[in-house]
Amino acid sequence: MININSRELGLDVINEVPWGTHLCFFYDFINDYFDVIKPYIKAGLENNEFCVWIIPKKLETEKALEILQTAIPNLDCYQQKRQIEILSYSECYLNKGRFNGDAVITNWGNKLDKALSAGFDGLRVEGDTSWIGTNRWRPFMDYESKIDNEMSNKNILVICSYPLNKIGAREIIDIIESHKFALIRRNEKWIYAKSFVDIVDKLLEIQSHIKGENIELIKQGELKNIFFGQSSHEIKTPLASIKGYTQMLIKEKFGTINEQQKEVLEILKRNTDHLDNLVNNYLSLVQLQAGTIKFIVEKIPITSLIKNTMDTMHPLADSKKIRMNVQMADGLPSLSIDVDRIKQVLINIIGNAIKFSPEGASININVKKKNEYILFEIQDFGLGIPKNEHEKIFDMFFQSESIRNKNIKGTGLGLPISKAIVEAHGGRIWVDSKINKGSKFSFTLPIKPVKTHKINLIKSLP
Ligand code: ADP
Repeated sequence: MININSRELGLDVINEVPWGTHLCFFYDFINDYFDVIKPYIKAGLENNEFCVWIIPKKLETEKALEILQTAIPNLDCYQQKRQIEILSYSECYLNKGRFNGDAVITNWGNKLDKALSAGFDGLRVEGDTSWIGTNRWRPFMDYESKIDNEMSNKNILVICSYPLNKIGAREIIDIIESHKFALIRRNEKWIYAKSFVDIVDKLLEIQSHIKGENIELIKQGELKNIFFGQSSHEIKTPLASIKGYTQMLIKEKFGTINEQQKEVLEILKRNTDHLDNLVNNYLSLVQLQAGTIKFIVEKIPITSLIKNTMDTMHPLADSKKIRMNVQMADGLPSLSIDVDRIKQVLINIIGNAIKFSPEGASININVKKKNEYILFEIQDFGLGIPKNEHEKIFDMFFQSESIRNKNIKGTGLGLPISKAIVEAHGGRIWVDSKINKGSKFSFTLPIKPVKTHKINLIKSLP
């Protein structure tokens, strides 16, 4: 199966990165700049990505094209396919001479939507920053931090290039802070790469900071909100990296591994996925309670949604030798949904189906059109749920009597949160189940997007 999360970067220093990676690189001379840009854009075009190139201030479009063509002789074919856009800094970043970071971010979202609906896998961006003067430095750094946050779960790759002769030490620190990786290209050599290890270090640092200094806040019961509100990005970004790189290690992208190493990595991947899902559920809970939950709606083909979810669920299913049979009706439309949240719903339900099934069992996942809705059905042949609990399992923190003495772990959050998410999208969720025969969870989503519905979660809090 293709790993839709990893993309070929085209650079010899880092071969592949997950979608959502935001890199920066510093260059000394324009030759160093092109050493990076040429293979980066070439890899994007060859891998069916829509490429946007914001050229350095002093470079003219004609000249930029000419240089790019030396690495990509069939560049005009890609131009005819409208797969590449070359912009000046003012076209991309300024509106009537003013820089507005939020507007630029919205624009990237629109470009991504367009790219996906035109059949590309995602968006690859290179933005040169030689145009930024001291007065625009702060707003631009705020934009860089925001975009790092916004794009972490989207099919976007971004490289921001900074000419070394225009920035000082303080600026370099600002830049490294707001990107996942920092690379330096000087005299035709790579001289520094801020890496995955730094991110893990950062995570550990945050954890010890939280443990050490925020005990007072724990007492006041506020840590939960701060932890999941402000630091969620700090947790989710490194988690996404750990997941992406573990997957790449498993797929032997960094060299061959033996069976034992593979097994260990697979355990690491399963646990990271589990942790990611827990963080998502807790985060949604806090946002639902605080009334700050936001839905970021984007259009996605149902096949991509399911494929993406299956990629996440396979290691867990494989660990119990469970077979997941997916059946999707032909000609399903795209849906306008908050992709991450609906994926969270699928992960919660499929994760439960795996959890409550015996080893070697099967799970059937069916997706079809029903009137004005898409119907998702997830059927397992496991433990089942007694009839009198069919309503209660959607209540906060509810766990069935039948599993209490079976040492099956859980939080009782997955289903109520899934219900809130589905209903906010204008859909419905329900269960049919018989004890010891299995359960079928079904939910619908409207094909035509509706305005976000009011969320009714608080009333089911104990
Ligand atoms: P968790 O699984 O973390 O306990 P959920 O909210 O996802 O929390 O599920 C609540 C309860 O519903 C579970 O504890 C279990 O009792 C029951 N349940 C959910 N899905 C299934 C399933 N597929 N088979 C049997 N019981 C289930």
